[in-house]
Amino acid sequence: MAKKIKFKKNPTYEECFPRSEKKYKEVDFSSEYFETNHQKIKIPFRRISLKENTHHLDVYDSSGTQGINPNIGLPKIREEWISKRKKDKNPTQMYYAKNNIITPEMIFVSERENIDVEFVKSEIARGRAIIPSNKKHPELEPMIVGRNFAVKINANIGNSAVGSSIEEEVQKLQWATLWGADTVMDLSTGKNIRQTREWILRNSSVPIGTVPIYEALEKVNGKPEDLTWEIFRETLIDQAEQGVDYFTIHAGVLLRFIPKTSERMTGIVSRGGSIMAKWCLSHHEENFAYTHWDDICRICAKYDISFSIGDGLRPGSIYDANDEAQFDELKIQGELTKRAWEFNVQVMNEGPGHVPIHMIKENMEKQLDWCHEAPFYTLGPLTTDIAPGYDHITSAIGAANIGSFGCALLCYVTPKEHLGLPNRKDVKDGVIAYKIAAHAADLAKQHPNAKNWDDEISSARFEFRWEDQFNLSLDPVTAREFHDETLPHSNAKVAHFCSMCGPKFCSMKISEEIREMAKNKNQNEQVIMLEGMKEKAKEYNKMNTES
Ligand code: SF4
Repeated sequence: MAKKIKFKKNPTYEECFPRSEKKYKEVDFSSEYFETNHQKIKIPFRRISLKENTHHLDVYDSSGTQGINPNIGLPKIREEWISKRKKDKNPTQMYYAKNNIITPEMIFVSERENIDVEFVKSEIARGRAIIPSNKKHPELEPMIVGRNFAVKINANIGNSAVGSSIEEEVQKLQWATLWGADTVMDLSTGKNIRQTREWILRNSSVPIGTVPIYEALEKVNGKPEDLTWEIFRETLIDQAEQGVDYFTIHAGVLLRFIPKTSERMTGIVSRGGSIMAKWCLSHHEENFAYTHWDDICRICAKYDISFSIGDGLRPGSIYDANDEAQFDELKIQGELTKRAWEFNVQVMNEGPGHVPIHMIKENMEKQLDWCHEAPFYTLGPLTTDIAPGYDHITSAIGAANIGSFGCALLCYVTPKEHLGLPNRKDVKDGVIAYKIAAHAADLAKQHPNAKNWDDEISSARFEFRWEDQFNLSLDPVTAREFHDETLPHSNAKVAHFCSMCGPKFCSMKISEEIREMAKNKNQNEQVIMLEGMKEKAKEYNKMNTES
């Protein structure tokens, strides 16, 4: 990060979230094992002020410290925590959890999620949850991925050979986390991969994941057959030293599975999967990531890098969903998961892809069974192939579905999927679509902290507190803009209707009146509602006859 770069600014936190304030909860951490006494841990959250500041709602906040010059980078909040771990050769969260030791990271996520820290520790020890947190990424605000916690979302960024710059990628990172991305994958394949990653890491408060085979491929001028274990290993260590928190490694793409993709409509659609498959075929040898898995585990254990074991043979079309190649690889993911746990490396498994709704559940059930309940991390899945330009929607449907069955991390898809490199607007659209999917899944799973947000916004809506309704939404600015498009005046913010149904047909207003009448007349609400509806029907019919 030596060179100074002039960065374009995103809209600020205050502009994006009016009447919201970033706040921190402070907790004390003392540990005999880490020789720490009363260390302060500050956990961020967003406070939304309501009812003209007489009431508030606190929500999860992944946006990181605001107003920082990217040339300087974020504050290193974990530096002191990590410095206490020098005596441990493999200081992974799983190692500590198995040895009954609570880390500051565990405290951080338990406070963030409002869940008991002993439970956090036991889920990590069991492999059912992970805290991706490389010891070389001190800027990180820890988060947890596991099916007994809030469903999280990942945003992909990164340049390609035909576009983008360091400025744009850092800006996308800040933009994605501002809107709620819990992790970010840097999938750069263009120029300056290493340098771009350095800028991203030093400015990221969320875990950063990569697919190291992309950079290894750059080192051999894009020829998969020229890759070697040594080049791959060197790439892993370099990225580990920089602070990458999780690696996607396609070690489950085995030589014997590749012929099974020949009957597919869309072959192998994972970039990493196709690179490994080409290497295996050209050498007629087993995947070097598979044969060197224990060596890779040793590297990851040293830094506490989590695995996101890749699904290189995921289906790329509805036609190919849930086929033999896909499930053969999933079984190998289970074997690799167990081996990684022996090294105390934290693991999640990647999943599809393109899957119609009725075939989604099978993916979750098989993953839980074959991969020993390690967290599942899926791309969507896209539930239909017919809507290029809207794949944030086709996939958010699948994401909500699989999230409700227990998928822990949902990788977003933007409207540009299959069409081009996403820009800043696409990143926001993808993040919002996936925040909806994750929250819908939390509601379906009856997560204890999910429903109160819905209840707050529903009550604001019913009481015509327009400002509160805007400010409680995932995207307050858009909600306000849509309202103001037809009713921009300030008195419309106290009106008991909007332009959708107009003043006479506002059902919320009618219900309000019915309640009032019922209260006054002490009558049953349902009877009154029927009377009210008959009355409105008469008005409507009259209007239609007159027009
Ligand atoms: S006018 Fe219709 S859409 Fe608008 S607040 Fe009333 S019921 Fe809701």
